[in-house]
Amino acid sequence: MCNLLDVRTNDKVGRYANVSQDVRAGESVLHELPFAIGPKLDSPLCCLGCYTYLEEATLCETCRWPVCGADCSQKTWHKDYECRIFADSKISFNPDAEPGPQLECIPILRALLEKERNPGRWEAEVTPMVDHNKLRMANEKLWEAEGTNIVNFLRERCRLADRFSEDLIRRICGIFEVNAFEVVSTNPMAVSVRGLYPKGGIPSHSCVSNTTYSILPDNYMMVMRATVDLKKGSEILCTYTTILDPTMIRRWYLKRAKYFDCDCARCKDPKELGTHLSSIKCPACDNGLILSSDPLDKSAEWKCDHCDKTLPGETVQRLYFAIRTDLSQLEELEIGPIKLEMTEKVLRKYRSSLHPRHGFNLALMHSLVDLYGKVDGYTVDMLPDILLERKAEFAQNILDALDIVKPGMTRMRGRILFEQHVCYLMMARTQLQLRVVTLEKFKEQINKVIAMLEETARILEVEPEGSADRMMAQSARGSIAELQASLDNMTELPE
Ligand SMILES: [Zn+2]
Ligand SMILES: [Zn+2]
Ligand SMILES: [Zn+2]
Ligand SMILES: [Zn+2]
Repeated sequence: MCNLLDVRTNDKVGRYANVSQDVRAGESVLHELPFAIGPKLDSPLCCLGCYTYLEEATLCETCRWPVCGADCSQKTWHKDYECRIFADSKISFNPDAEPGPQLECIPILRALLEKERNPGRWEAEVTPMVDHNKLRMANEKLWEAEGTNIVNFLRERCRLADRFSEDLIRRICGIFEVNAFEVVSTNPMAVSVRGLYPKGGIPSHSCVSNTTYSILPDNYMMVMRATVDLKKGSEILCTYTTILDPTMIRRWYLKRAKYFDCDCARCKDPKELGTHLSSIKCPACDNGLILSSDPLDKSAEWKCDHCDKTLPGETVQRLYFAIRTDLSQLEELEIGPIKLEMTEKVLRKYRSSLHPRHGFNLALMHSLVDLYGKVDGYTVDMLPDILLERKAEFAQNILDALDIVKPGMTRMRGRILFEQHVCYLMMARTQLQLRVVTLEKFKEQINKVIAMLEETARILEVEPEGSADRMMAQSARGSIAELQASLDNMTELPE
């Protein structure tokens, strides 16, 4: 098991980690099994063995809690943990009630049981973790729901009061809320769950990170990798937010979900390191950009860099949350031509108010990059050059921002390059058909496409076997071989 974390402490952030040796981009810095894993808050109904979404509750024969079949009732994380407790206390799952609140206790109960089974790991790895319970308590609604659905459920209904104190259960709830990682399965039918990775939680957050992680499908092992070359002794940084969100939204999320105020270099810079992910167009002059006078204060005034126009921070907040609502409504739409057209419409709606490369615009472009070429009426063979160019340009805008805020070998870069290569390949083929290109020029274009595919493959082939990303890498390798062969056979332009 790889562990290149050199754990340090300071007064500002508590624990953090540097790399203990030089690491190249793409190499692992940490392999870690979860301390416990299980459904998220408000989870849809899912199997407790493999987390596949269940339309209807099929129940484990031993404990009467949801599993998709006999195999899954035998999976360790179910059989050796909650299954015994529920069978002994004869508390079965209620298929008629909301699944979420009933499933919330599962990861917490697993962690409590793991603490008994593995006290050494608990002591060494979990006890130093923060729970922020003093701050969490202030959210009365959540605190009360947690008290009912988890604390009282486990202590009273499951008759575990003698084994686990309220303080301990609350502490694990807090540790999960503040530190858990999202676990997305390679099974497309599975719902995402949350896992507690005590070492994985040590590196600090920064809005410009230098690592990424994947979770292996068989044992849920976390593999944390460097996305750029790291020199021995440099700090390992992870990002806990949506990377293209503007500063005000990222900081709001981090405060609400992770209980801290980010003051990284990107957060401090009104222009977000030159990406303009937060910049607004000035309504009062041409070419003016309205920027926050102090991005670390959400109420600070925003000012135009060309004229005297100012906006109160609250106005920008309202605008941002209105746009965010539009974006989340789009996300709800089923993948298809209507979603594509609606996304284009929202992009037009904010053309006059946001910088062309504002984070919200890039989020819309990201969605369009995925939709163009894939939905009815807009399949690749049907896209005219102008739409292929549009898709390629959107992809480039995202890649340019990623180079600054999430540089190096990231899944997002690999996937976007793959989408972008399709555009250049199709356009080169059209030019060849129309004979508006020389053989030399055509070969040059195809070599550029091959280089993009090479990068996609290099980035994504480290992803878990069976994952969509790994398959994309394989598909890229296949296309490279085909393109290379066709280039080798081509000595003159086809008649
Ligand atoms: Zn299952
Ligand atoms: Zn069971
Ligand atoms: Zn930040
Ligand atoms: Zn202005």
